[in-house]
Amino acid sequence: MRLILLGPPGAGKGTQAQILSDRYETDKISTGDILRDAVGKKTPLGLKAKEYMDSGRLVPDDLVVELVRERLGTDSCRKGYILDGFPRSMLQAESLEKILKQRGELIDRVLFFEIGDDELIRRLSGRRSCEGCKRVYHIEFNPPVKDGKCDSCNGNLIQRSDDRKETVKARLKVYREETEPLIAYYNTNGLISRIDGLGKIEEITKRVDREVSRADDDYPEVRSGD
Ligand code: ADP
Ligand code: ADP
Ligand code: ZN
Repeated sequence: MRLILLGPPGAGKGTQAQILSDRYETDKISTGDILRDAVGKKTPLGLKAKEYMDSGRLVPDDLVVELVRERLGTDSCRKGYILDGFPRSMLQAESLEKILKQRGELIDRVLFFEIGDDELIRRLSGRRSCEGCKRVYHIEFNPPVKDGKCDSCNGNLIQRSDDRKETVKARLKVYREETEPLIAYYNTNGLISRIDGLGKIEEITKRVDREVSRADDDYPEVRSGD
């Protein structure tokens, strides 16, 4: 299974990617997580990416595309993968297409999470993530059992610096300008499944399941065509 999760910041991509990845034991590739890790470790990639992430802009395409290309080459991606937050620009989508062609692979579905700005802002302002395993929580909508501690690894839960109000506005604007055109792009391929992103996490997972199982049954032409 090869999936792309598309949608604005805060739509629930990471949350659903985690659930899918746990359930199907499929590798989850979250470019945001990989970039944040690189920033934390001050690697060459991290040093270049930091200023973009801090201001809510996209990290340059060439850096992100290389990162994904490398990651897709690792063993863990052989069975399939879930791309969470990539591609995010037309150039990234076109680069991905070339990479997939070289690998002889096709994407099964692009899940597009639709949700209004008010809800996005509520979600982003209450988001907390585990310092250790990167699991994502929400202080109100998806709280951990123990305050400030990860259910999975007991790591500390922290707030991302780019979830501040000013940066959130910039990220939503970047999403509209650079990422939204991908909906039309994948729509012409017949790959898009629109998912209403409003509702409980479990409900969204059910909607995702429905679309993913349809990908097996209803769209054979997409899977076999080239
Ligand atoms: P969110 O979950 O809120 O959508 P992410 O964790 O996916 O945010 O991304 C955080 C930041 O990392 C983005 O604002 C951007 O600066 C950078 N980033 C993540 N993925 C990409 C990508 N595919 N292309 C460029 N920049 C990216
Ligand atoms: P994205 O990866 O698209 O930026 P996340 O999965 O990180 O989004 O979710 C953003 C925030 O909203 C997190 O705090 C998460 O716990 C919370 N969240 C995710 N899905 C839902 C949902 N269906 N209802 C309420 N809150 C949610
Ligand atoms: Zn954890």
